[in-house]
Amino acid sequence: MHAYGQRDLPCARCGTPIVRESFMNRSSYSCPVCQRPPRSR
Ligand SMILES: [Zn+2]
Repeated sequence: MHAYGQRDLPCARCGTPIVRESFMNRSSYSCPVCQRPPRSR
């Protein structure tokens, strides 16, 4: 299962549908649940 679109992808960790976020003219896919906040270790 390699041929898979890059949209509506379920997160591999929680299974949440990945959302596309537009940031600085760039669009990146990230999980709203697993998305880690900046500077958080
Ligand atoms: Zn997730």
